[in-house]
Parts: sequence; C-alpha cells; structure tokens
Amino acid sequence: MFRNFKMISRVVFGRGCFNQLDDILADKRADDNSFVVFLVDDVFENSALKGRLPVKDRDLIIWVNVDDEPKTSYVDALTKQVKAYVSDLPAGIIGIGGGSTMDLAKAVSLMLTNPGSASDYQGWDLIKNPAVYHAGIPTLSGTGAEVSRTTVLTGPEKKLGINSDHTVFDQIILDPELIAGAPADQRFYTGMDTYIHCVESLNGTYLNAFSKAYGEKSIDLCREVFLDGGTDSDDKLMMASYCGGMSIAYSQVGVCHALSYGLSFVLGTHHGIGNCIVFDYLDEYYPEGVNEFRRMMEKHGITLPRNLVAGLEEDKLDKMTDVALVLEPLWENALGKDWKKIMTREKIKAMYKRM
Ligand code: NAD
Ligand code: ZN
Repeated sequence: MFRNFKMISRVVFGRGCFNQLDDILADKRADDNSFVVFLVDDVFENSALKGRLPVKDRDLIIWVNVDDEPKTSYVDALTKQVKAYVSDLPAGIIGIGGGSTMDLAKAVSLMLTNPGSASDYQGWDLIKNPAVYHAGIPTLSGTGAEVSRTTVLTGPEKKLGINSDHTVFDQIILDPELIAGAPADQRFYTGMDTYIHCVESLNGTYLNAFSKAYGEKSIDLCREVFLDGGTDSDDKLMMASYCGGMSIAYSQVGVCHALSYGLSFVLGTHHGIGNCIVFDYLDEYYPEGVNEFRRMMEKHGITLPRNLVAGLEEDKLDKMTDVALVLEPLWENALGKDWKKIMTREKIKAMYKRM
C-alpha cells in the first residue's frame, strides 16, 4: 500500500505575510460570538509581535512556555483552559513559535474535539474526530513541524507523536521575517534538524523519487544557509524546513532521531541540540553527512556539550535504549528489514555511553 498522505490545505509565504493573518482569520470567524485562540511562545510576550496579533474582543491569547518540550499533561491543561473560557469551540487555534509551540497548537486543536488525555492518542491514527481549524506560524525553522502529520509529545510512558491526518495544519504562514531574531545557537540547532532529516531520508531504505526530490532541494538550501550565508538565508532556511518535512513525510528519519528521542526522554535534552549531540557520533552510518555537519559547526562556532550519558545509572540507560528501540520504522529505514540483527540493545547502549 502506498501512503495517501494529507497535506496542509493552505500556505502563504513571503516577507511580511504575517500581516495577512487578520484577513485569513476573517473567513473563519463565523459570527460575532466566535473567538480565536492564539497560542504564542512566551518569548514574545514583551515583543513587537504582541502588538501585531490580530486580536478581537472575544479572542484568547495564551502565552505558552516551552522551556520543557511539550508534555501530554501540558496539552491537557491548555485544552481545559480553552474549554473553560467559553462553552463553544473556538473558530481556530493559531500556534506562533518554534516546533514546540506549533506542536502544542496542533495537539490542543485535536484534544478539543476528542475525549480523554492527549496521552491516549500517542501513536498512529488513533484520533477519531477532526480537529478544530488550526494554523501554524513558525518563528524558528528546521523541525518541519509546520508540514508534518504529527505533534511530538512526551507522555507518562513514552515520547511519541499523535500521528494522524487530522493533526496536519489547515493553514501555515511562512514569514521569514519572524525567524530573524532567533538566537544564533538555537537557529543552528533547529536548522540542523532539517539537515539531519535530509541526510537520514536520502540515505534510508525507504527513499523514493518523491522524498529524494524534496530532500535534495532541502539539503542544498541547508548548505547555502550554513556554509555560504547571505542576506536571503532566512527565506532559504524556511523553505529548507518545509522541503525537509515533505521529504520525511514520504520516507522516514533514521538512527540519529531514534537515539535522540531516547536522550530527550531520559535527560530532557531538546530535539535540535539532542540531534546534533547524537549525529556527531554517527560516522559509521552517515560518514559524508557527519563530516559536512562538522564543517557547519566549525563555521558557526558551535561547541556541543559532552559526557551527558557517561556515569548515568544503568536503569536510566535501559530506559533510554527502550525508547530508542520502540521507533522501529526509523531503524528499518536506516538499516533495512533485518535491522534487529544489526542494531542490538548492547550496541545502542555502547553508542549512548560515548555521548
Ligand atoms: P522550540 O520551539 O522548542 O524553541 C526553542 C527555543 O527558542 C525556546 O526557548 C523558544 O522560546 C525560542 N524561540 C522560538 N522562536 C524564537 C524567536 N524567533 N526568537 C527568539 N527565541 C525563539 O524549538 P524548535 O527546535 O523549533 O522545536 C523543537 C520541538 O519541535 C521539539 O519539541 C520537538 O519534539 C518538536 N518537533 C516536532 C516535529 C513535528 O513534526 N511535529 C518535528 C521535529 C521536532
Ligand atoms: Zn527532527
């Protein structure tokens, strides 16, 4: 069976296109009683962006904190807050921020129409009811969360996305001006997420012409952004993230992401930096990609933290390994159908111990 995957319904791209948000939402506001919920990264609480939000009287702004990556408990609390605001459903949920905030917006839009806790839906196609209209507006580029059919959440048992067709945004607004102020190291780590998506997709066994087309374009853009630089780097990085996300939509990520999920679950390491930490040890699997990544790090003066896992208790190392091993499609993409013969628990633990 070939994947019949759902894409975003509408995309607007360009410098300053954020100003069109008011017009875009006007169509969604059915009557005077309807309201929109803006979930905005709290890093913008005292910024000029706050004054640019097209907020109407009945709308609700929730400043979300992403110091920790999104947890199912946080999604449940936000959903409760929106439900308590008015008894009706909102006309839309608008997520403005990096991958974490966009994922929170996706998850809340799903949980408003599906009963229970977000943790009940971590997995594939468990969501039954369509979400509330939801739009994503990235302020950091690289995760591909703007195009993906998942919202990555850490639950009580696992770090796993709510993967479903209903998760996909109805609208995204790609305005390169919004990513201009991101701190340089964060921009690098999140940008490398896209670079690593492409290396893993282009070197995977699931590769096909669709994924290759998007992956090659995205990796070229990453090279231009992180090796050449230039005034239109933000525009290029935004499109690299989009294309990288499209590439893995029809293939899969690989070894780096599987190990990085384990690291993140046990140590709380954030996705972008976690991928960078792991990728630096993957010469055996992605030799050319790792070499080029090191050149990019050098050019941007990035020094990665070391010795995160050394000295960790055995039970935590076991948990880390369990979390990595759950991600079977990632291993199969990276190493082929017989991956279990190649990637043993012991091998994973040995790799972690070097980090
Ligand atoms: P992030 O959203 O976690 O944000 C990182 C930091 O940057 C935060 O402190 C945030 O406040 C700050 N920030 C964001 N935009 C800023 C700006 N313009 N200026 C200044 N500071 C800014 O970072 P991310 O790397 O974009 O996202 C990582 C998250 O995305 C993880 O939770 C990961 O699990 C998730 N993710 C999701 C998908 C998906 O397909 N849904 C894919 C990959 C990663
Ligand atoms: Zn990623």
